[in-house]
Amino acid sequence: MDLSAIDIQNIESEWLTNEKVSLDVLRLDKLHPVVSGNKWFKLKYYVEEATARNKSTIATFGGAWSNHIIAAAYAAKDAGLPSVGIIRGEKPAKLSYTLTYAQELGMELFFVSRDKYRRKKEIIQDFSASDWYWIDEGGYGKTGAKGASEILNSVNMSHYTHIIASVGTGTMLAGLLLASTNEQTIIGISSMKGNTGIDQNIKHLIENRSPTPSFEINHDYHFGGYGKHPQSLIAFVNEVYHQHRLPLDIIYTGKTYFAIKDMAEKNRFKPGNRLLMIHSGGLQGNKSLPEKVLAF
Ligand SMILES: *Cc1c(COP(=O)(O)O)cnc(C)c1O
Repeated sequence: MDLSAIDIQNIESEWLTNEKVSLDVLRLDKLHPVVSGNKWFKLKYYVEEATARNKSTIATFGGAWSNHIIAAAYAAKDAGLPSVGIIRGEKPAKLSYTLTYAQELGMELFFVSRDKYRRKKEIIQDFSASDWYWIDEGGYGKTGAKGASEILNSVNMSHYTHIIASVGTGTMLAGLLLASTNEQTIIGISSMKGNTGIDQNIKHLIENRSPTPSFEINHDYHFGGYGKHPQSLIAFVNEVYHQHRLPLDIIYTGKTYFAIKDMAEKNRFKPGNRLLMIHSGGLQGNKSLPEKVLAF
């Protein structure tokens, strides 16, 4: 992966000028056309550990459109290791774009019922004879946070008062917290509805950092829940693309950009604040939509 492909896009818009705040977007999506930027960072040290421990295979979990599954397949291949994906739900007649791509990268897929998928310990037990290195769903864990803490290496982050990013498992946000200063405000926008356990999960990931940095998770911008993308969100994502040539994904970054605009309009920020949004990638997931729904 060529980290120099990551760059910063400054956004100019009336709603920013009105509030006298500035917004830059860290384009991790430019890292690779299919592999999500943040997932790549999260996986780095897991793969290193698997190699150091001479594990035979990287194994992990995900759904049919999982950014994590693709990134894991890619990272394993890159490290010269075979990979296995445990996929939620029965095998469909036609594989999703995501799963097809993961397979092309050499990942072997095992489909398990939704019920079984919830019992991950049991699944790992089933394969216990194999010398596999297991990575949690979404790359959740301290090792993932350590990798994600390097996301900010490519910017002069002391420039920003606020860093805002999407939250799924919270691992990326934990990484940003590890790398930020205590003067910076870190805001996570949850893609899930009512995921109230997330604060605890993030605190666990950063427990070794002192003083413990503070952060806030906003639960108001889930648009109906994880994976939900009402017409209003689709229209918004298209509008942002037309105005700024900024492609967003419908699961995470579209909701986050919307949240930033809405918070600014509600005077959440002060004049002079300098915001950095992490564009964490995820664009491949847009292929779950029928063609031509999105303008890009
Ligand atoms: C997985 C993902 C996230 C969420 O990251 P977590 O570390 O799970 O919180 C955000 N954006 C994109 C594009 C993702 O693929």
